[in-house]
Amino acid sequence: MLMPMSTDPKSGYRPETLAVAHGYDPAMGMWAAKPPIFMSSTFAYPSAQYAKDVHEAFFDGTGPMVGTTHHIYSRLGHPGLDFLETRLAAMDGAEASAAFASGMAAHSAIGLAFMRPGDSMIHGRPIYGGVDMLYNQVLADFGTHSAAYLDGTDEADVRRAADEAMAKGPLKLIVAETPANPTAAMVDLALMVRLADDVGAKQGHRPLVVVDNTFLGPFAQRPIEIGVDLNMTSLTKYCAGHSDLLAGGVSGKAELIEKLRFQRVVWGSALDPFTAWLLLRSMESVAVRTERAMENARAVAEWLRDHPKVAGVTYLGFLPEGSRPRAVFDRQCTAAGSTFSFTLHGGEAEAFRMLDQLKLVRLAVSLGGSESLICHSASTTHYAISPGKRLEGGITDGTMRLSVGLEHKDDLIADLAQALEAV
Ligand SMILES: *Cc1c(COP(=O)(O)O)cnc(C)c1O
Repeated sequence: MLMPMSTDPKSGYRPETLAVAHGYDPAMGMWAAKPPIFMSSTFAYPSAQYAKDVHEAFFDGTGPMVGTTHHIYSRLGHPGLDFLETRLAAMDGAEASAAFASGMAAHSAIGLAFMRPGDSMIHGRPIYGGVDMLYNQVLADFGTHSAAYLDGTDEADVRRAADEAMAKGPLKLIVAETPANPTAAMVDLALMVRLADDVGAKQGHRPLVVVDNTFLGPFAQRPIEIGVDLNMTSLTKYCAGHSDLLAGGVSGKAELIEKLRFQRVVWGSALDPFTAWLLLRSMESVAVRTERAMENARAVAEWLRDHPKVAGVTYLGFLPEGSRPRAVFDRQCTAAGSTFSFTLHGGEAEAFRMLDQLKLVRLAVSLGGSESLICHSASTTHYAISPGKRLEGGITDGTMRLSVGLEHKDDLIADLAQALEAV
């Protein structure tokens, strides 16, 4: 029998400490010091009555097996998921968490669990392409509605979007991606929580505040502590950190996470045992990796800002003193991250010329990996979003997103310097 350690977010340990070993006790795995991989699709029962009791506990939440974690079948849950989810919940300071086969599987579960035909939601611009497709195509085809705010730090704009959504149907989800991909635009999470309370009082049903916390990684922004309901992360990015796997996680109240687990069982989007193990391993170093990446990013961003061919850099450390986004950043975040975008004077042609000259920085989508990655947003990650909506989100034909990795910063700057020669 495998019993994960308790998920008390007040255990006293800091998230960096919890990331190293929390969630697995050697007594669970024949005293192996590190979590074993349980490569099994199904789990055996000592007797038929025992099997019946396990199923009763799983489906009805009653009977003698309640509170134990005897697994049934790996799509419904497995030990690697238990270890990972216990750790993730503790790191996020949440009651519970659920891990999925990708960040989009996690976000899709949220949409499917909490939206019904006729309901509405709001989100910001820019927004991750897959999340945009989820709400504006897939769920919209089932009769849901959406409205977008263009400045997540502007109370009037956010309330305008909420009113627009409520005119179409009950507002169920307030989705905030912050900092937003790829421009690092800020969304004020305290404002979103306040808005949810106000809308709840008005419509008699409080919408859930959902944060996509992928961009800064798990430490520099702590949404659960601000009062958001669901903290979604693409674990593919900083947590996995090596651009070699896909995974997603959601943290929040146990009662909400249970609903997401139900979706996961039905749609078959659980994370597999081997990938869960890889993630447990990667999480041990995510704090030091992000620290180094952020140090590198500051150096690279400062160098780019001062280059005559560069028109603008959206690095969070450059948010102007006295501006609204800066005030939100100071309240909400403890570090500036290592992914940002920049533009050259000119547009697509100039960007492409530079990209084609890079030798060290790899031309690929994704972010948060050990190696630096760069991509031209309009023609890749945000290709499927209409040019008008891209511009609303601040993505121009020249926008390039750079995820700074763990290489030596001087080598990264030298590579960018030689590539900019070609422009
Ligand atoms: C990558 C990403 C996702 C989707 O995650 P996957 O693991 O690729 O499915 C969602 N939101 C943001 C901000 C992302 O960067």
